[in-house]
Amino acid sequence: MLRQFSILLVCGLVPMIVTAQQITKRALLLMGSSFEITIVAPTPAEADTHIDAAIAEIQRIEQLISSWDSASETSQINRYAGEKPVTVAPELLALIQRAIAIAQLTDGAFDISYASMDRIWKFDGTMQHMPTKEAIAASVAKVGFQHIEIDTAASTVYLRKKGMKIGFGAIGKGYAADRAKALMLSRGVTAGIINASGDMTTWGSKIDGTPWQVAITNPMNKNKAFALLPVIDGAVVTSGDYEKYVTFDGNRYTHIIDPRTGYPATGIVSVTVFAPKAELADALATSIFVMGRTTGINRVNQLKGVECIVIDAAGAIHTSAHIHITTP
Ligand code: ADP
Ligand code: MG
Repeated sequence: MLRQFSILLVCGLVPMIVTAQQITKRALLLMGSSFEITIVAPTPAEADTHIDAAIAEIQRIEQLISSWDSASETSQINRYAGEKPVTVAPELLALIQRAIAIAQLTDGAFDISYASMDRIWKFDGTMQHMPTKEAIAASVAKVGFQHIEIDTAASTVYLRKKGMKIGFGAIGKGYAADRAKALMLSRGVTAGIINASGDMTTWGSKIDGTPWQVAITNPMNKNKAFALLPVIDGAVVTSGDYEKYVTFDGNRYTHIIDPRTGYPATGIVSVTVFAPKAELADALATSIFVMGRTTGINRVNQLKGVECIVIDAAGAIHTSAHIHITTP
């Protein structure tokens, strides 16, 4: 633990108290993933109350967007697909609207209605055979963000097709990280990092004034960091194919699926996105997998404040316009 001691500085006649600051860290399981919350606060006791509040906020969001919890508003939307609109909190409605905007920006590479395809691709070790062409074709029949109907005035969401489902697997952790950070800022926490199993967002700086360093996983060897980068008030998110995948006939099929074909994305092993918000970075990292490296990087180059690093299946590194990697 880093610690700076309280010192009393006397500037002229006005005494000025510089309070002690220290870094407090807590790791725990949230949203089915490992989270780590790091903040700078004067005392461990004060840090704990802030961290408790951040955790409560992430749990609140989980209850809103969880597909597992049958009582969540998201589960209600899915349950009444093809039947009727469901009234939801304005917060969930807004998240869905932003997800639709990203679907439009990525020509449907990102699509929260991918979720009905989950029935045929399983990445928990239970899948024995490659799904048939027919099953894959049938699985995308229920996919399409164009069929999500939003009524802002009534605050309702309606999925037009029966069997259609939405899921926040590719954007939810980023959103939760952003919200936890916003809450910390509103409570006056001057600096910290929210790490939602690799989806990271930072603010402020370390106690000595230097920027937070964020480690990016090496997709070829996940125990080794690929790079350590300084991050000042922004988000860094990495999506990799090394965590969830199945192998058939020596081919690796990752958990990121092209919603337009029903087939897992190929050709990329890792995408790291830098953006002001973790939500956008999270969604774009997933999208670039699907769009492929050329289209993905071109799209990122058109977005202000967004950069990316893509590692292809051969291990070659490609970057967006403003990132320059120097190898020693
Ligand atoms: P991770 O959660 O492993 O960090 P991602 O952020 O890339 O990785 O999200 C992958 C998850 O997103 C998948 O497990 C699935 O739930 C969901 N998903 C898969 N393909 C898509 C897609 N094309 N658009 C939106 N969500 C997707
Ligand atoms: Mg993502």
